[in-house]
Amino acid sequence: MEGGHESVRSVVRRPIYPPAPLRECRLANPFDRQASSCPAHKKTDRPITIDDGHRSVYDVLRPLLRDRHWAIPITLFIYPSAISNASDALTWEELRTMKQDGFFTIESHAYWHPNFRSERALRDAASFRAFVLEQLVHARSRVSAETGATATCIAWPFGIHDTELEALAVDAGYVAGFTSEPRPVTRAETAMALPRYPINDVCGEECIWGILRETDPYHN
Ligand SMILES: [Zn+2]
Repeated sequence: MEGGHESVRSVVRRPIYPPAPLRECRLANPFDRQASSCPAHKKTDRPITIDDGHRSVYDVLRPLLRDRHWAIPITLFIYPSAISNASDALTWEELRTMKQDGFFTIESHAYWHPNFRSERALRDAASFRAFVLEQLVHARSRVSAETGATATCIAWPFGIHDTELEALAVDAGYVAGFTSEPRPVTRAETAMALPRYPINDVCGEECIWGILRETDPYHN
């Protein structure tokens, strides 16, 4: 949401679309509305996730949530190589502070945001699998060591995923994976490739309202 602060700010300030915590939605049967107590299964709830761990999460979004008395849970998908390293990235201290706030959940975006498609082209099959596992496992262990959070969700870097990557993520201890394929979650999804709607520089307020209308069960 790097460039879309004002649009997101405008939309979340309206009270009719309370987002749900993502973590509560990764249940054994996340698509069974009858069996699940997941708040996301209420008709108007959509979890909000933010990828990449930019500092604007701390500088812009956190104060906004405080203004709202912390009414909105947010899931952050971060890649540890950037944290406390890149100039536009969050620091581990900021992530620890946000975790203590109680409204931010810290999850994995792999260790250095690799492009698994191009990395695969550089390696044979065995070394590619080892590379992927290292990226996935190391991300979880670093998040745990730095923040105490147990990351069991991954947002696929660049949205790149396939059945091999998804199986490796399960081996690495993940229980849910998220793409950037813009459509509502249906029963046809697999847990390791759940769709999300990207909100970025080219998705302003009208675009965001369009997403909310498109995903509103009353309009489907
Ligand atoms: Zn990313």
